[in-house]
Amino acid sequence: MILITFFLAGLLLGSFANVCIIRLPKDEDIFLSRSKCFSCRKNIPWFNNIPVFSYIHLKGRSDCCDKKISLQYPIVEIFMGCLLLLTGAIFSLPQAITISLVFFVVTLIIVIDYYHRIIFDVMNYILIISGVSISLIYPELNPENISFKNSILTGLIGFGLFFSLKTLFKKIKGIDALGMGDVYLIAGLGVWLGFEKFLYILSISSIIGIFYYLIVDKKSENFEIPYGSALGISFIILILSEKLIQQVITLL
Ligand SMILES: [Zn+2]
Repeated sequence: MILITFFLAGLLLGSFANVCIIRLPKDEDIFLSRSKCFSCRKNIPWFNNIPVFSYIHLKGRSDCCDKKISLQYPIVEIFMGCLLLLTGAIFSLPQAITISLVFFVVTLIIVIDYYHRIIFDVMNYILIISGVSISLIYPELNPENISFKNSILTGLIGFGLFFSLKTLFKKIKGIDALGMGDVYLIAGLGVWLGFEKFLYILSISSIIGIFYYLIVDKKSENFEIPYGSALGISFIILILSEKLIQQVITLL
């Protein structure tokens, strides 16, 4: 029962994530205004706005003007649904709720950086402040259960490392290889991961970055690897993998 609740909560959170992903880069309100059709701007009735179900029911086209609805909607919803289902299955209830909220912010960062190459400061600040405060007040809420010292030092090391890299690239090559958003993001993820896993996130995110570089068409003029997305995906993998593998082994 609790797993179904986590899955449904994930679908809803994914639906809200879509609202944020579409509206935040346009500087639009995310709470008050109603959902409008992306094409003809008509209000969408609630029964056409149910996560995943509506997309399938409408066969991927808008009801009002028969335009193709972006696959981003169901993908983000199902992704969040499965993500929360997993966290509900492998972590204690307080940990699962805490890390689900962190995953929500990280998912926003992944998708927005992927489409726009922007990481909003406010999301990085939320990660940094929440991670450090939880390590101080109630470290068991973080599945990594790291000390305050570990949390704050890892954040500072991440910030220092990426800031130096950014400055070096600028000095030697004259390019902005890393944005300030990436610098704050590694600090925000570091304060949740702790030092040990911080070393892993550097390698996993680089591998994802290289794969992206190899797969994606680089002909477009301002080709840029969405490194924030790579960091976010690596973070989710690192938080889940250890517990997940342990659970699979005990099942075998
Ligand atoms: Zn329409």
